[in-house]
Amino acid sequence: MSIRATVWNENVHETHNKIVGDLYPEGIHGTIAAALNASDGIEATTATLQEPEHGLTQDRLDNTDVLLWWGHAAHGEVSDAVVERVVEAVWSGMGFIALHSSHFAKPFKRLMGSACNLTWREAGERERLWVTSRNHPIAAGLPDHFELENEEMYGEPFGVPEPLETVFVSWFQGGEVFRSGLTYKRGAGHVFYFRPGHETYPTYFDDNVRRVIVNATRWAHNPAARVTGVTDAPNVPVQKALEPIEARGPSLHAEGEEGFR
Ligand code: ZN
Repeated sequence: MSIRATVWNENVHETHNKIVGDLYPEGIHGTIAAALNASDGIEATTATLQEPEHGLTQDRLDNTDVLLWWGHAAHGEVSDAVVERVVEAVWSGMGFIALHSSHFAKPFKRLMGSACNLTWREAGERERLWVTSRNHPIAAGLPDHFELENEEMYGEPFGVPEPLETVFVSWFQGGEVFRSGLTYKRGAGHVFYFRPGHETYPTYFDDNVRRVIVNATRWAHNPAARVTGVTDAPNVPVQKALEPIEARGPSLHAEGEEGFR
């Protein structure tokens, strides 16, 4: 069975800026979905901010194996209820790939639990990405380094928790470096952050970038059944303890009472 990928995009620059609209006539989401659909074993669809519930209903998330996210100008317009739904889907086992300026996307920040800040410069400079985890499935089929002639600079320190693995490190013409491919696990969900993808450059048409996104979608897919009740916090009564015990000392909670949140 194919991996079901949903490519989510705020779809703002493409519709408000001629340079971006001309570069990505199908939208960044359409371009990335086309790259995924051109590869074996992945079926990609798209969703955008402008759709009801941003296109991310519970049913849609239940039928999404990997959610890819591109946001920038409209992070603040994403509904908190949808963010919570996305985060709980990740904890349940849905894969999540945050692209470029989505370092500040609400679901990514929520999953990281940190500032997710960085330094940046928009000067069309050369980016050279080095593979720092050579046998990693996300780097499969790539050369040991590759270049993007024009990109926005992102520089360290990147305010994210230490990742499971750093798959790529970027060097920029102006001298900065950045950890540009990072893996995490959050609950049962695999999370990947991938840096390139500034909207005024044709980055998502680059063969190496497309390969990374395809590889990452395969890597982020957790084929196990979704974990249910990921936010449940059940009380285990004394009588149901695995070994016989007696309650000792006072108790705040009445028998069978819900825990506080
Ligand atoms: Zn950018």
